[in-house]
Amino acid sequence: MRILSAFIPRRQILSLRQFQTNSIRRESISTIHASMDATEQSLRQSLSEKSSSVETQGNAVRALKASRAAKPEIDAAIDLLNKLKLEKSAVEKQLQSTISSSGNGSLNREAFRQAVVNTLERRLFYIPSFKIYRGVAGLFDYGPPGCAVKSNVLSFWRQHFILEENMLEVDCPCVTPEVVLKASGHVDKFTDLMVKDEKTGTCYRADHLLKDYCTEKLEKDLTISAEKAAEYKDVLAVMEDYSPEELGAKIKEYGITAPDTKNPLSDPYPFNLMFQTSIGPSGLIPGYMRPETAQGIFVNFKDLYYYNGRKLPFAAAQIGQAFRNEISPRQGLLRVREFTLAEIEHFVDPENKSHPKFSDVSKLEFLMFPREEQMSGQSAKKLCLGEAVAKGTVNNETLGYFIGRVYLFLTRLGIDKERLRFRQHLANEMAHYAADCWDAEIESSYGWIECVGIADRSAYDLRAHSEKSGVALVAEEKYAEPKEVEKLVINPVKKELGLAFKGTQKNVVESLEAMNEKEAMEMKATLESKGEVEFYVCTLGKNVSIKKNMVSISKEKKKEHQRVFTPSVIEPSFGIGRIIYCLYEHCFSTRPSKAGDEQLNVFRFPPLVAPIKCTVFPLVQNPQFEEATKVISKELTSVGISHKIDITGTSIGKRYARTDELGVPFAITVDSDTSVTIRERDSKDQVRVSLKEAASVVSSVAEGKMTWQDVWASFPHHSSAAADEQE
Ligand code: AMP
Repeated sequence: MRILSAFIPRRQILSLRQFQTNSIRRESISTIHASMDATEQSLRQSLSEKSSSVETQGNAVRALKASRAAKPEIDAAIDLLNKLKLEKSAVEKQLQSTISSSGNGSLNREAFRQAVVNTLERRLFYIPSFKIYRGVAGLFDYGPPGCAVKSNVLSFWRQHFILEENMLEVDCPCVTPEVVLKASGHVDKFTDLMVKDEKTGTCYRADHLLKDYCTEKLEKDLTISAEKAAEYKDVLAVMEDYSPEELGAKIKEYGITAPDTKNPLSDPYPFNLMFQTSIGPSGLIPGYMRPETAQGIFVNFKDLYYYNGRKLPFAAAQIGQAFRNEISPRQGLLRVREFTLAEIEHFVDPENKSHPKFSDVSKLEFLMFPREEQMSGQSAKKLCLGEAVAKGTVNNETLGYFIGRVYLFLTRLGIDKERLRFRQHLANEMAHYAADCWDAEIESSYGWIECVGIADRSAYDLRAHSEKSGVALVAEEKYAEPKEVEKLVINPVKKELGLAFKGTQKNVVESLEAMNEKEAMEMKATLESKGEVEFYVCTLGKNVSIKKNMVSISKEKKKEHQRVFTPSVIEPSFGIGRIIYCLYEHCFSTRPSKAGDEQLNVFRFPPLVAPIKCTVFPLVQNPQFEEATKVISKELTSVGISHKIDITGTSIGKRYARTDELGVPFAITVDSDTSVTIRERDSKDQVRVSLKEAASVVSSVAEGKMTWQDVWASFPHHSSAAADEQE
């Protein structure tokens, strides 16, 4: 539901075609479930049969006892009852394990998440904002290592996209006047459906309550029939498409009440997610905190186009805060009320969406989840990007190019490629004007999470701002030679239309002007032969009768020196906080301590994102080693390597454990004033280098100029087993 409604403002109202697709999807999803969950279905069936056998046999035993039957007869009946109970409990166990392994929120995932989140909070990667005042849901601070990781992710983003693609970076205000967000559609449509506790007024996301109800029934209630289980699964699959009325009806049908109080709930109604404000002291200029950064780029299109020498394609990019007043944020760092977005708007000629660098990514193979596979109940498959574009699975080369670049960006950061997939939007998720959309989804303990949206949004945004502002946001293509073109000219005769349609004249005029060439020429032919034609005006939702004197349609020949058009926009939009959280989960692991008595946490961050690249420890507290530590620290600073000195008197093993938990990839131990050891976090292997070389070796390997294998091969070394001895 969230995706749909938040998505609508820029991905606008569902068209009739999309509503039709929804019903097609509903049918096919039922079929998918029928085949996918065969095991679970048959176990539920068998459990209900076993339960009724147990009940029948229980009644039989009671009847025998009441009729004072012979003891051997009663004993035999009790034996049978016990046997049936055992069979029932075996099926129960099987069902329970089938449900948890199907991944609908298994306990393991929650335990894993808890371990990650505890470590992140304890080491101040993030802090719930305003904690001493009990915090505010959906607002988080980044602590020192969190800030460092974020800054590394953003600087790699700038390098990978802005620098490598020569993008034009802008930085626009968060406070945005209403008119801009009215034009973009956010003021009217940036909503989620909400319900209220009728007695306390507490608000909930309506779809979340329905989702929780169905999930809990499926995971915890072993007594529900196979048919009921299939129904709940069906609801989960199609609830994104529910209208407010359908959602309200389901909530009533299932008797869902407010989770905290069990009070009745209101009907669902739309809640706009933007934070409203006013600009200036008079309060007369309404504004909002921007829900995305993209609008700042669109409104600057004209200047950026000139800055780029009036050439297409070009891309503009922006990193900045976005604000969404989420109704009841619950997924920790994944759904927050203020977050960092990094967005690219790549402007391209709609008639030529090829990309000169597509061949750089065309050979990449990764998990893709096209629409057809989703509809037919298959799972994501490894596909070759070049083939996906050639076959038309991905709409065009530019969109494909960005999908490939996003894949490279995420995997280089440390996202596990087996837990990254590109899912194509189903027809009902996309606005009528969008050509194609793919989400980079990353699997985490919360399931598959949309972290980057990559959409071909056609010309929608620039057109919307052109219309509202009156400033033409267009590009031109100058012809080498003037071209003779035949142009369709539709002239509605406003006087006649006004007389005939009065207050609805505007709707009729707009629909007439929006006709494509085929429609217009058909109308012309009918008007000439019959003098009158039935014409469907979609904004009125009915047919009107158009007479010959109400419109003139012709084709005129003209010489044109240039083509003026509204560029299409291809938009990759990155939720930086989501990417970082998934990275934390993908990099987190535990390993036993040397004594084997506890599990130690390790963040296996690639050096690129590690918050601190190196720790420096003097082995023991002694003035010579401390002096050498200072020298190394100075050199690390001069080569720009972030580091931390640990001179606490604790054991070296404890100090390693502390830096492993922060994900520091290298540790220099100063155990002499001429040479030191460098330890690599994941292998725990060590090399010995001279004091003078230490900083440059760490810098080379941290910046990817050398691999650890190169370092290992170039210096005297000892393996982790030997290193453990030292710890
Ligand atoms: P959208 O404009 O809704 O497609 O969102 C763009 C990106 O922003 C998504 O791909 C997410 O990564 C991220 N995002 C959206 N909503 C939130 C939120 N409430 N908290 C954190 N990230 C979000």
